Parts: sequence; C-alpha cells; structure tokens
Amino acid sequence: MELGQTFETPFYLPWAGMPQIEEKAAPIIITDRKFSLKTRKYIEDKKASITIPVKKMWEIQSEVVTVETTRKALETGKIPKEWKSVWRKEIREFVRETIETAWLKAISKSGDDVALAVNRIQRKQYEFDVTMTSVKGWVDHQGGVLIVDLTAQQFGSIHALLQHQIVFQVTSPYVLAERIKPLVGLTKKEVMAVARAMSAAAEEGLPAAIVNKQGATYANTLHKNRAARIARTELSNGYNFGHLDSLKKAASEGWLPGVPEKDWIAGGQKPCSICLENQAMGYIALKATFPSGHQHATAHPFCQCSLGSRIRR
Ligand SMILES: [Zn+2]
Repeated sequence: MELGQTFETPFYLPWAGMPQIEEKAAPIIITDRKFSLKTRKYIEDKKASITIPVKKMWEIQSEVVTVETTRKALETGKIPKEWKSVWRKEIREFVRETIETAWLKAISKSGDDVALAVNRIQRKQYEFDVTMTSVKGWVDHQGGVLIVDLTAQQFGSIHALLQHQIVFQVTSPYVLAERIKPLVGLTKKEVMAVARAMSAAAEEGLPAAIVNKQGATYANTLHKNRAARIARTELSNGYNFGHLDSLKKAASEGWLPGVPEKDWIAGGQKPCSICLENQAMGYIALKATFPSGHQHATAHPFCQCSLGSRIRR
C-alpha cells in the first residue's frame, strides 16, 4: 500500500442530495520558520565548541613559522615543507576531531527535533539514530572535503603573502616571520588586506615593529570573524543534514501519513540571490536538489538558511 493512501478518503458533504465531492486533505507542515529559529539558537549555543579549538589550531600552526624556516621561505619563495606538514596535520586533526564531533552532535539534535515533530503529528514512536550509515557516510565525506579545502586555502593564502612580501622587498626573515605568524589561518583575501595595510604603513615610514603590531591587531579581528564563520557554517551544515536525513528515515520507515517534501527557508537580514532562488522553488521531493545544487543549507559560508518540510497527502 502506498503511504498516505488511507488518508485520501472521500469527503462527504453533510446534507443530502449533493453529489459526492472528493477533496485532498491539506498538507501537514512538519517544520517551518519556527523550526529554523531552533536551528539558529542551537548554532549560537554551540559556537564556542568550534571557535575555541580553531583559534588554538591557528596558534599552533603559527609556531612553526620561526626565523629559521622563514629564511628558507625567503630563499626559495615557497612555503617550507616544515610549515606544510604541521599545517596539514593540524587541519586534519581539527576536522576529524572537533568538526566531526560537532557535526554528529548537531545531526543528532536536529534528527531528534524532527522526530519530535513527526511524532507530534501521529503520536508515534519514530526515533532518529545517529549511528546510521547515512550519517557516517556524510560525516566522513564532508570531513575529507573540508580538510582538502582548508589545507588548499591555507597554502594559497600564505603563498600569496610570501610573494607579496618578496615584491615589497621584505628581506629580514625576522620581520617576515613576525608578519606571517599572526596571519596563519586567514583566507587569501583577508591575508592580502592585512598585507596591503602593512605595506602602506611601511611606506609611510613607520618602523617595522609598529607595522607588525598594527597588522597583528587587524589580523586578530579577522581571525575572530573567521572562527565564528567556520563555526556557524559547519554547525549549520550538520544541523541541516540531520534535519533532512531524519525526514528521509522517517519516510522510508513509514512513519509519515503521506509524501514528505522539503523547502528552502532563506534566513538572515539579507538573503543572497542564490538562496532566494532556492526558496522560490517551493516544496520539492526530499531527494531533489535546489537550484544551487544543494540538498540542504548551507549554500555558502555564513548562509543562514534552513529547511522546512511538509507532508503532501
Ligand atoms: Zn543561505
């Protein structure tokens, strides 16, 4: 029997003589904007579980930028292998431990939240199980992708910085090391913004120690913002994946009185055009992808969107 068939019973008008009219029952909303507030709250509450370890990681990664290794960087114009191996190892550990743990907790929380919403509809006993292979598969795969991304970003941004400093004729390994250290962990765009500010200050004739101090202060703010961005994005990825996976599981186990569908709820003050286009799609099948190519939020860093869902009967 098809799911929901029993609910499509004909609707009889109460007075006599009228022809029978068959009507479909209205869809049941499972999760909506109210649920997305839950998502936001969870992310804000758990942010520190990522921001603190990521800042710690950047600190450890910057310690390898010694005068000795920076001299090598100046001679070759390349990132020394000592930096690469420590950075790789630290990123891997950070993703496999901190991020994957945070994902699993977020998946478990949203999976349970969805189960609550499903059980409220029918007073049933659907339970979400975070040890499912679908969860493990997602976490392993996403973890691998994130490790590659973060590593490539880090190599790319410090390489660009190195080139910039060589062009600007920074020849002292001591000055250069002091300049690179606080920038480890930032994106290329951020690193270059600090580098340009430092070059401008140096051209004004400020002493290197002052230039570096100003750069470090600027970098500190950028680090704080980037840590928050990574935390919010990754918690949101986990939470939204759990949301969708829990719906899929509830559907496959026959807990839903009809066909479940999902929609994209654009979040934040000013959702971007990518997310608005996803939202404009309306309700689609759980397995379908939104126009951006995603199955669920996030669509980009700092994306504040979430999923909604309903049961079509
Ligand atoms: Zn978005």
